[in-house]
Amino acid sequence: MYSFPCTECGACCSSINNIEFLTEYNRDGVCVNLVNNRCTIYESRPLLCRVDAAFDEIFSKNMTREAYYLANALACNELQVAKNIDKKFRIDIDSLKASIRLI
Ligand code: SF4
Ligand code: SF4
Repeated sequence: MYSFPCTECGACCSSINNIEFLTEYNRDGVCVNLVNNRCTIYESRPLLCRVDAAFDEIFSKNMTREAYYLANALACNELQVAKNIDKKFRIDIDSLKASIRLI
């Protein structure tokens, strides 16, 4: 099954100020579980850190998977630009659109 094409840039995990469900992990906006750009609690990370599982359990009630993926991908790229992260990590929106049409 198709899954969200995260490029593991780490931008979301280092931008957690004001994210209520991650308050306990927040150290100056960076998650304490992010070490060397990897999540050290990956297998037990919170539901909202799991893009696909969060869709299945929460967001599928209100939107399609296609719309959810697209909104997330655009937000990822926007965050990467704001954090000046290398372009190689951008999610390819055209490829994503082509892929989600196949879901
Ligand atoms: S910002 Fe997006 S692409 Fe980067 S690690 Fe987070 S989910 Fe993945
Ligand atoms: S728990 Fe893991 S996936 Fe969630 S914000 Fe922290 S480092 Fe990222």
